[in-house]
Amino acid sequence: MTDSVRASEERLIPFYSKTPIAIVKGKGHRVWDEQGKEYLDLTAGIAVVNLGHADPGINRAVSKQLSRISHISNLFIIPGQAELSERISSLAFPGKCFFCNSGAEANEAALKMSRIVGNLQKPGKNKVLALRDSFHGRTIATITLTGQEKYKKGFDPLLTNIDFVAPGSVEELRAKMDDSVCAVFLEAVQGEGGVKLLPAEFVAEARALTTKFNALLVFDEVQTGIGRTGKAFGYQNFKVQPDIITIAKALGNGFPIGAVLVTEAVSSKMGPGMHASTFGGNYLACAAGNAVLSRLTPKTLEAVNRSGQEFRVRLEALRAKYPEMISEVRAYGLMIGVDFSAAVSVKQVLDSLLERRILALRAGDNTLRLVPPFTVGAKEAEKLTQALSDILQSIDQAGGKK
Ligand SMILES: *Cc1c(COP(=O)(O)O)cnc(C)c1O
Repeated sequence: MTDSVRASEERLIPFYSKTPIAIVKGKGHRVWDEQGKEYLDLTAGIAVVNLGHADPGINRAVSKQLSRISHISNLFIIPGQAELSERISSLAFPGKCFFCNSGAEANEAALKMSRIVGNLQKPGKNKVLALRDSFHGRTIATITLTGQEKYKKGFDPLLTNIDFVAPGSVEELRAKMDDSVCAVFLEAVQGEGGVKLLPAEFVAEARALTTKFNALLVFDEVQTGIGRTGKAFGYQNFKVQPDIITIAKALGNGFPIGAVLVTEAVSSKMGPGMHASTFGGNYLACAAGNAVLSRLTPKTLEAVNRSGQEFRVRLEALRAKYPEMISEVRAYGLMIGVDFSAAVSVKQVLDSLLERRILALRAGDNTLRLVPPFTVGAKEAEKLTQALSDILQSIDQAGGKK
């Protein structure tokens, strides 16, 4: 155990079960620990460092801003905010932005705006629908909105008037949709929930019903945004336009920033004092955000789809080789899920990948989740698949799960 691992255990509130390595340097999809050991990073800091670690262009933009001014209050004009809002709109839909610092904060703001809009329309129009297996953050409001008990346990009382629908269940959505609903929150691809794309007919029905009942359709794009699924935003995998999207994770490529884009109709109901953030959209955050979005071109998205395909093809071939161990492979751009059957534990696979110096994630029940930096390609797909093949072979020979 290194000093920094021991110090972390002694000094940090134990909210995480941490992998006991300290990554101290990165470049693209490669990272190094304190001892100089190199790893292939297929996590991108959980879908954050989409353009790769220590990207020179992003670094230049942030350090240039750092030498001028870092922060001034949101009580003054910060020109980078309007620029960033315009960039987000040109990639998504026309509207206006609010800037904050994280995904949970972006969803919190979306929730507050949904309730304002609903309550103004009709007293009591403040029920919110979200999906089972969803993930929307860790504040009290966003764990309430999250459709997984494990994140809520012990934190009662939570918010009221938030209800859940099974992802994909048009019947349940129809049954729960009425005049009292002010918003429906969706993730285009449930990330923490297991890398699952919503069925198109379900999303179309959510749009139709929210329109019918004058409710807002909100897409949580915190993980699926900024090119992750091969589209600028995840909802663009469907033929719908949301009223609100929430963005964070990759918007600053590692610099903390969150954003909410809303339609003009939503924005017109907001006024001074209803919401605020001290740090939200400060000079440094906007410098990072603008630099990131200036790079989110059709060419970048094409590359994401091409690299995603490199992983998909190889992982599908691996599934064909080990059909009793891999039950399904899903890849939406570079958001990739590999479901293991009961014979294999994803924890064991992650440990074995780490031994082979590959960093990956888990999601859902028993799913390997890969959200690598966009710098990866065929070579990294090959390396991962070879490692997985070796791991599955040895599990197979040992007669299944240890
Ligand atoms: C990560 C995540 C969040 C929470 O973002 P934080 O920045 O950790 O608050 C919310 N929604 C989704 C879909 C996420 O993946």
